[in-house]
Amino acid sequence: MSDPSRMSKQELARQARQHLGSLKSAGAEWLPKGSLQAAPVEWGSKEDVGSAKPQAMREPQAVASGQLPVVTKDKSESVFASHLPLATSHSLFADGSGPEPMTKVEPARSGLTIEQRRQELKVLIEKVCQCARCPELASTRTQTVFGVGQVGAELCFIGEAPGADEDAQGEPFVGAAGQLLDRIIAACKMKREEVYICNIIKCRPPGNRTPLPNEAANCREFLERQLELIQPKFICALGSTAAKYLLNTTQGIGQLRGRFHDYRGIPVMCTYHPAYLLPHRSPAKKKEVWEDMKMLLAKMGRPVA
Ligand code: URA
Repeated sequence: MSDPSRMSKQELARQARQHLGSLKSAGAEWLPKGSLQAAPVEWGSKEDVGSAKPQAMREPQAVASGQLPVVTKDKSESVFASHLPLATSHSLFADGSGPEPMTKVEPARSGLTIEQRRQELKVLIEKVCQCARCPELASTRTQTVFGVGQVGAELCFIGEAPGADEDAQGEPFVGAAGQLLDRIIAACKMKREEVYICNIIKCRPPGNRTPLPNEAANCREFLERQLELIQPKFICALGSTAAKYLLNTTQGIGQLRGRFHDYRGIPVMCTYHPAYLLPHRSPAKKKEVWEDMKMLLAKMGRPVA
């Protein structure tokens, strides 16, 4: 992070506005009086009002059993200790071409209650809001765009990065591609509020360029923790970039779509990005997207139209 004592008033004000905007769009309804630095995570649901700290922060029991994230010695390297068993096979054979794993890989589970997962998600949002690992992105974003939806959502859509509309509003997929995604979700007989939506990286790349490998790597830890806390049962990766970084594969979307892949034990369907389906690009690919969605719905045990 930049040293606040060296910043101009305008830069401080810009960063404060950006930080508050990100908190608000991620669901924060109130902030404690006093220094944010001293109490960065004392905010949350209305039941928490009046208590010194939310339950998950007050009770040391989960920490003692090693279930809550632990800040490592070198914060620049990692914000969380790897306290969960990592499923290692997913990155080696993401394209399904490798040998069958000897043991079934179970989805990463946090071992937390749903309320603790909600609280931990707020802690994570706070860390993402303050992140400056990618100097170019941190200095050009209006705000970070964390994700939208409920902890425990059955299905998670993952795109590549926020665009201009998302950067302005602090919510993923709210522009033209987002409207098309809403229609895809509706065609699946689901509501936007029912699913979880996020991106591989949480900041808008300038000019909407494709996220760079080091930017995806910097954000990876946040995405992994986000998925660990949301615990979706199914994932849909939208477009080549999302699929590539999520599954650690070099295959293009044309090769990846139409079959299931694996992210830490969670079935992943890859399909074309909604922006690619817009009228000026390749609207004919909607047919393939619908085929992919039908496969996904069948796997989810939902009625397929
Ligand atoms: N495209 C993405 O990949 N993500 C968004 O949030 C918006 C457009």
